[in-house]
Amino acid sequence: MKIALISSEAVPYSKTGGLADVAGTLYREYIRMGLDVSLFVPLYKTTSVKFADSMTDTGISLDIPVGSDIQKCRLFRLAAKGSPPDARGQVYFISNADYFDREELYGPPEGDYPDNAARFAFFSKSVLEVCRKLKLKFDVLHCNDWQTGLIPLYIEALRLREKLFEDTRTMFTIHNLGYQGLFPPSALDLTGLGPDHFTPEGIEFYGNINLLKAGIISADMVTTVSQTYAKEILTPDKGFGLDGVLRTRKDALYGVLNGIDYNEWNPAADPALPASYAQSDAAGKKICKQALISHCGFTGKSEMPILSFIGRLSEQKGIVLLAGSINELMRRGLKLFILGRGDAHLEKLLRDYAGRYPGDIFFVAGFDDRLAHLAYAGSDIFLMPSVYEPCGLGQMIAMRYGTVPVATNTGGLADSITAETNARQDMNGFLFNEHSLPSFTAGINSALQAYGNRKVWAKIVCSAMGTDFSWPGSAAKYLELYKGTAHNG
Ligand code: ADP
Repeated sequence: MKIALISSEAVPYSKTGGLADVAGTLYREYIRMGLDVSLFVPLYKTTSVKFADSMTDTGISLDIPVGSDIQKCRLFRLAAKGSPPDARGQVYFISNADYFDREELYGPPEGDYPDNAARFAFFSKSVLEVCRKLKLKFDVLHCNDWQTGLIPLYIEALRLREKLFEDTRTMFTIHNLGYQGLFPPSALDLTGLGPDHFTPEGIEFYGNINLLKAGIISADMVTTVSQTYAKEILTPDKGFGLDGVLRTRKDALYGVLNGIDYNEWNPAADPALPASYAQSDAAGKKICKQALISHCGFTGKSEMPILSFIGRLSEQKGIVLLAGSINELMRRGLKLFILGRGDAHLEKLLRDYAGRYPGDIFFVAGFDDRLAHLAYAGSDIFLMPSVYEPCGLGQMIAMRYGTVPVATNTGGLADSITAETNARQDMNGFLFNEHSLPSFTAGINSALQAYGNRKVWAKIVCSAMGTDFSWPGSAAKYLELYKGTAHNG
């Protein structure tokens, strides 16, 4: 089986969030499984700076129509200069300096780049053009999020008239329904699609075009990143206006929980940590906590629990709730670590609070992978008060590092955190039901109460560290879906 993974970001080449972890790690997992897989990603500025020595210019240059323009797609592939391609896998970088040689992937904190429709229509078309040029006959094109939503729609038409695509099946994975790729009707021209697609059954959405909808209506299989979220998005409450459309695809809709990369996230061998530790002996975690305390300049007793938040600063992540809880957390003498990048107004909100509590709150507005590792390891409790959460990786990473999550009972948080010991799993975290301040603080209180009892806490930490969030199970599920042998539910 020949598989293409197509994503607008993938670790280690580019990352703004969980999509990158999923695409990059799934690619490596498929290689580990001995599968024939290719990964397609844009060649961003950060990628070319960091990986200049690991990639080769294929010399292939293609003309891609974008509206009335013709844009050049130059194709690079992963392989140290002069070395042959890796027979087991192939990473293709789609390059166009105008579109991708920029500071950010999608835009600065103030807002998206205004030409994102053109940039990702270009990317989607380029991938198919590369398939043609290199005669790559894939069995499955696994597309991700709105940036690649046009691909299944293009394939629907192409497989009727092009032998190369006649047996190609498409999978479209929704990583977050809140980001739909909405553009004015004038953007239709950029996609190359005719006005017959600008209908309620097509990609029209309340007068705009919707690229996520393009993927949903046309892919052979639609998946999302947890089973609970797969159910939630069928409801008006969490469907972002697309619940009706999704209900029409209910029989082709599956939930597959993401995993995390056990090589990158491994407290027993993490080069970013001052000490290593494992489930059987968590002594190293104390050293990591000390290092985090020094890094943050936290004052007071080191037995005090450190609570942390790492994630995008967006309404979705419950930043307003987090900020709302701060006075109460400070009243109790707790320490709070926050690392996040995102909306300017949320950044300001957190900065204002942090300024009020020097020595107690440490806030970094930015993206810092190394610091994230130290914080996952050095803190005690991980806060994830998301309004909704398709899967969420932060809670899984935290658990792997023995940091116990307090999270909203929604989506993938509900599917990965066991808040009450049951026949299959010991309790490994805390869930709160209602997205409100009293409910959130009650969740934190339960965690603090458990923290106060050394034996109880050790058991929860041990269970959290032992929960399996590795990729093999989820990769096998995707493979079943590609082969058409999976059952829904
Ligand atoms: P998202 O909705 O952003 O995809 P996830 O929880 O699925 O959220 O994944 C977020 C990933 O990005 C995690 O690996 C998390 O550690 C990382 N991350 C998010 N924000 C930052 C940041 N500011 N610095 C470092 N890592 C971050």
